[in-house]
Amino acid sequence: MINEQMKNYGMNRSAIRDLFEFGNQRKAIVGEDNVFDYSLGNPNVAAPADVNNTIKELLASKNDIYLHGYTSAQGDAACREAIVKDLNKRFGTTFNKDNLYITCGAAASLKIILTALYTEGDEVIVLTPYFPEYKVFVETTGAKLVEVMSDQSNFQIDFDLLEKAITPQTKSMIVNSPNNPSGVVYTEETIKKLATLLEAKEKEYGHSIYLITDEPYRELVYDDIKVPFVTKYYKNTVVCYSYSKSLALPGERIGYILVPDEIDDAKDIYAAVCGAGRALGYVCAPSLMQHVIEKCTGQVSDMNEYKEKRDLLYNALTEYGFTCIHPDGAFYLFVKSPVPSSQAFSDKAKEFDLLIVPADSFGTPGFVRLAYCVATDMIKRSLPALKKLADYYKDELNQ
Ligand code: PLP
Repeated sequence: MINEQMKNYGMNRSAIRDLFEFGNQRKAIVGEDNVFDYSLGNPNVAAPADVNNTIKELLASKNDIYLHGYTSAQGDAACREAIVKDLNKRFGTTFNKDNLYITCGAAASLKIILTALYTEGDEVIVLTPYFPEYKVFVETTGAKLVEVMSDQSNFQIDFDLLEKAITPQTKSMIVNSPNNPSGVVYTEETIKKLATLLEAKEKEYGHSIYLITDEPYRELVYDDIKVPFVTKYYKNTVVCYSYSKSLALPGERIGYILVPDEIDDAKDIYAAVCGAGRALGYVCAPSLMQHVIEKCTGQVSDMNEYKEKRDLLYNALTEYGFTCIHPDGAFYLFVKSPVPSSQAFSDKAKEFDLLIVPADSFGTPGFVRLAYCVATDMIKRSLPALKKLADYYKDELNQ
């Protein structure tokens, strides 16, 4: 006998991976340049120069035989020290290295904190649209995922719906801002309102409600947009961070969990985080990358490049008649499908070799996602195909 739940996760690939694989097949037939792949959030903008230089310097430093060795399970002390120093400088906080647990990216951070917190029957609230893997991470802890629809006009939080969804079983809530896939950034006002609501619910139910902030896009914002640092607004906040996007290192697998001293049962939760990392078999995060982060934390890839891509695609799509959420952060464009079925829309787009992800698995049927972290040239080459797609749907778009 095998674990049927795991078999199902393995056999039913995500919509994103499905499209990506389809794209690879099409490229073999029609040529690399004729497929417009907006499926995957794999940054095309380079890592900051310091990252590659640091890797080269580290590899050249022959005196460190433990460069590739195991580190402490919670991460190398110097790496954790460097991260909290940077956070404290930027956000006026007072974290210390023992608040941090280094992980293999945000996915691992989320899985570890959920495993650390959850017992059978507990509920975790997520706001639509949400990163589809949350469902897998939550369900495999035995907890229940509770979806709450966001305000469909701007994808900020719908507080009436959220208040109704919080029950005595609610142990935590995940928020992701800047958001994948909407590109929305929660304003300071939204975060303050959220904190007030959660504090009131903690009082009403007599137990802690932890706010898990999933922040791989924290630094990826445009113009003057500010991302509030949530631990300053709500006491029971645990931060899950990743360098996958800010340093364009998604394949290197590095991030962290921040468990501030002031949260309820902080010491027990930190111990449970270490226990969950152990139970999940993570051992420690990649050692070479921990050394890189020690030198490069706080840096970010060139946002001007992302802005150029965003403006190019957003302006073209809106000019062609599509309705899009204007992204303040991250590198995704969230577009309203001109027909009720976003799957049908995505399938039609495939006929033009345009790979766009139906957002049903994000909890938002009727929308699609375009990941514009791709070559600017590809965006330019894709515009005639996007125009043809708009022409195909001209009646629906003109309604
Ligand atoms: N959370 C969100 C919202 C994401 O978009 C992603 C990746 O795209 C992750 C988590 C996982 O990130 P990582 O590559 O750091 O595991």
